[in-house]
Amino acid sequence: MFKRQFNNHSQLIARTLAASAMLASAAAIAFVPASTSRAATGARSASEGGASPGTPTPPPAVIPGVKYMDRTTGWVFPIREVNLIFGPSQWTLDQGVDMGGTSSVCGKRATLLAVDDAVVSGIGISGFGSQSPIIKLTRGPLKGRQVYYGHSNPVLVKKGQRVKRGQAIARIGCGIVGYSSAPHLEIGLYRKGATYCCPSWGETAPALIAILKRMWPTAVARNRQARR
Ligand SMILES: [Zn+2]
Repeated sequence: MFKRQFNNHSQLIARTLAASAMLASAAAIAFVPASTSRAATGARSASEGGASPGTPTPPPAVIPGVKYMDRTTGWVFPIREVNLIFGPSQWTLDQGVDMGGTSSVCGKRATLLAVDDAVVSGIGISGFGSQSPIIKLTRGPLKGRQVYYGHSNPVLVKKGQRVKRGQAIARIGCGIVGYSSAPHLEIGLYRKGATYCCPSWGETAPALIAILKRMWPTAVARNRQARR
């Protein structure tokens, strides 16, 4: 949810800058140098995203409670219409990561996808609306962790349903959904072993935003191809 309201674009930018400063300080703790990680050994496929040629590749994300994570965990980007949403410079840290576009990017224009194979573990989160799904990952380094999609509406799946990576599970809600001032997704990752929403500020979001940023260039390229 937005702790501070965005009433206009300049506030959004101010908030983004503040969040970037926070991320920079968090990064000192959240990241390890690439040279000391297994990412340097090439334990990933080229199709799994990362920076475009010429862009320095940031080091891998470190999630509290997970020994090692590859560059993107093998996830699918959580929003299908990446051409309509704002890019990484506009994402902000919350308990999760806030991502949005203009106020019309919602409903059928903004489909939310399961980041990986999972079971729908819950629907509806206080402060995020009654249609916000939570999925429990069933594979990968974050197997067993739950991921929430705040401010969704409508949800497209049922509690207990198995979902595949990339499956549509909800839409970004239009208007005000939970504590929010504009349509957006707050995607967040539960702490290890946590059974209730949500993580505290700064707990998992810095690592999550690092993963999402790594996925972004590939998500954009795939989207461009798909729309051709
Ligand atoms: Zn938020």
